[in-house]
Amino acid sequence: MPGTGSTAPVQAVRAQAYVIPTDSPEADGTMQWTSTTLIVVEVDGGGCMGLGYTYTDAAAAPLIRGMLAEVVKGQDALDIPAAWQAMQRRVRNVGRQGLAATAISAMDAALWDLKARLLGLPLALLLGRAREAVPIYGSGGFTTYSDAQLRDQLAGWVERDGCQWVKMKISTHPGQDPHRLAVARKAIGDHGLFVDSNGALSTKQALATADILARDFGVLWYEEPVSSDDLEGLRLLRQRAPATLEIVAGEYGYEIDYFRRMLNAGAVDVQQADASRCGGITGFLRAAVLCDAHHVDLSGHCAPTLHLHAACAAPHFRHLEWFHDHVRIEQMLFDGAPVAQEGMIRPDLSRPGLGIAFRRQDAERYAA
Ligand SMILES: [Mg+2]
Repeated sequence: MPGTGSTAPVQAVRAQAYVIPTDSPEADGTMQWTSTTLIVVEVDGGGCMGLGYTYTDAAAAPLIRGMLAEVVKGQDALDIPAAWQAMQRRVRNVGRQGLAATAISAMDAALWDLKARLLGLPLALLLGRAREAVPIYGSGGFTTYSDAQLRDQLAGWVERDGCQWVKMKISTHPGQDPHRLAVARKAIGDHGLFVDSNGALSTKQALATADILARDFGVLWYEEPVSSDDLEGLRLLRQRAPATLEIVAGEYGYEIDYFRRMLNAGAVDVQQADASRCGGITGFLRAAVLCDAHHVDLSGHCAPTLHLHAACAAPHFRHLEWFHDHVRIEQMLFDGAPVAQEGMIRPDLSRPGLGIAFRRQDAERYAA
């Protein structure tokens, strides 16, 4: 097929939203929620089907079936950059960030899955691996949890999944955090403790919090202590927080300029990016190149199944977020979703593409 010109035009695009209730109410420093919306995209071309997905609002599904399908249909499934550029151009007047970026991300992942299937390869081998497996850190620890829920969840990741690190939410009720952090520390012993304020604090509040986190609880990772749009605030924290505490942000990066600005500002010790938002596999690998050029590690945000193969290909890579909601949904609805072993996940090289199949019948009851 390669070398013979355009032989695998995309013929059909489908997208469907599924709203999946959480297993318990969840909250962080700036939001609360009781459900997660999954958008599943399928693209047909060359006699194969590609599967992609994102977590966003149900409004992304008609965007995919409409303006994105309009420009992707007829594109060669092997020429993903052409389809990607066409999608970016098509959404110019509705805004390339936010909803449109999540829609493009799902479509891009489906195109990469399709291309790898057409070539008969797992995506990790098509991209080329820098590593065979990827470390994960357990992530959840919502501020709605009881002490028992918090303890069981964090200890589970350490004991059952072998995680070296776990992350919990803080800053919904800052007065309760010292107690919650003590519960967490006791649950995980000497394992690494990460926290996430989700942008809830002012710079000075965050700076005071950073000292306590490092000194009293041995926290290693402080995510979005202030708004991730406050690059000066993040940089100040990075410069003045204890040296053992890394300052981290990047989950709301929808395009490459966002990562360039954050890295150029010296705002983070570790850059996060989310392939379900930042332009799919294509956008994630572009962010990875920027991180490499800035000598900053990249960490994948949420949606571990979507990231796994690309994470194996990224040069300066730290770990993937084993996020409670998404792990639960991916195990429930995707055959072939990775399973944690000794704190790592690895692509199944016996399966082509992203290595997953959608359990449509199991998902039907959640269809939006
Ligand atoms: Mg976060």
